[in-house]
Amino acid sequence: MINLELPQRLTNSQSMMNSIASSIFRPVARKYDGLEHTEAPKELEMLGKLAGQGDGAVAAATKSGDERVAGIKNAGNMSGIIATTELAWGCCGMMLSIPGVGLGNAAISAVGNKEQKERFGKLYCAMAITEPSMGSDSAGVQTTAEQEGEEWVINGEKIFVTAGERGDAVVVWASLDRSLGKAALKSFVVEHGTPGMTVTRTEDKMGLRISDTAAISFVNCRIPKSNILGSAEIADTEEARRKAFGGVMQTFDNTRPQVAAMALGIARGALELTRELLKKEGVDPQYDKPLYSSTALEAEIYNMEADLEAARLLTLKAAWMADNKQPNPKEASICKAKAGRVGNQVTLKCVELCGTLGYSEEQLLEKFARDSKIIDIFEGTQQIQQLVVARHVLGKSSKELK
Ligand SMILES: Cc1cc2nc3c(=O)[nH]c(=O)nc-3n(C[C@H](O)[C@H](O)[C@H](O)COP(=O)(O)OP(=O)(O)OC[C@H]3O[C@@H](n4cnc5c(N)ncnc54)[C@H](O)[C@@H]3O)c2cc1C
Repeated sequence: MINLELPQRLTNSQSMMNSIASSIFRPVARKYDGLEHTEAPKELEMLGKLAGQGDGAVAAATKSGDERVAGIKNAGNMSGIIATTELAWGCCGMMLSIPGVGLGNAAISAVGNKEQKERFGKLYCAMAITEPSMGSDSAGVQTTAEQEGEEWVINGEKIFVTAGERGDAVVVWASLDRSLGKAALKSFVVEHGTPGMTVTRTEDKMGLRISDTAAISFVNCRIPKSNILGSAEIADTEEARRKAFGGVMQTFDNTRPQVAAMALGIARGALELTRELLKKEGVDPQYDKPLYSSTALEAEIYNMEADLEAARLLTLKAAWMADNKQPNPKEASICKAKAGRVGNQVTLKCVELCGTLGYSEEQLLEKFARDSKIIDIFEGTQQIQQLVVARHVLGKSSKELK
């Protein structure tokens, strides 16, 4: 049974994250959005240090330990959802720019060994999967890793790497043997400054403009043999290979709910601001009338709130399952699909309801709408989440339902 009350530890971290978001993120969000990733927000340096120390307030709230109540566990995934929602409520671009909490860090803590966690634990690590010829279909990675003596030699090109320039290192997906498809995919930690690794450009974008998004090329880039995450073995049967790739994809079972939480935070921010602005115009829904006798504006607000709450509950469920070691790939995709879509719908509707004020840069509504779009694209698009859910519901494999 899911208990929907948040335990006190989580309500404490929720209010701490909210005060960081409102006192640090919101006041400078517009400024850095305008600067478009040309300047890393200096306001985030201290937060980065706290997160990197592992025992600071930010790390405690975003990483967290276990909390068991009668066998029910709320651990890192649930804490992450709470923290991410609040920080994205402040500004998702700022949140993704906190040094030390990149997607690559999540991969290292999920699959790195003890020595790797010590060696790379304090670095700010990005995650590089996407390539010019490959996005949704992770099995199509063209970047290669060849073993030569005590080193791996990486060759290929990665694009749209969040924190790919500002980070200290990148977790790179590469193939040990392209003829074996997804079975031969492995991930490698490559530190900036390694000869052969070059940031070739950074992208100007519609949203999340504060966060840097880089293209990186690898030309005969040599890294130590010990920088591979997980085993270097390629399974020798079709069944074992399928399982191995399933293992790689399991990272998404943890990260998709976290990305869904970004949509929850942004959309809640937009909805709260819309209610404030509408209140000044005399529109103040009080929930005391049935929907059919509410005004059209009030009905829009109720519908958005209901959708957002549905997305929130689906996200909590997926995170709770991950914390309790229950297989959750279907639920992780359901929550990402629902929250991504609702995030887009709510933020754009808020722009619409507030008219010129919604569209102008005087308020953050237009920024919320721009920032929320990507949540329905990265970490698996809306269509890919629906495909994953359909495979689970219909009991089809990825070969049977493409
Ligand atoms: C701001 C930003 C940050 C990013 N950060 C990272 C990062 O840190 N690391 C990283 O590796 N990548 C990152 N990405 C890349 C992102 O993950 C990809 O853009 C995403 O996976 C989609 O891939 P694609 O753009 O190649 O689209 P494609 O895969 O080419 O898809 C194009 C369209 O076709 C649809 N489609 C594709 N296949 C199917 C199918 N089988 N059925 C139905 N529809 C389908 C898609 O849903 C989409 O609408 C980032 C992208 C952006 C914009």
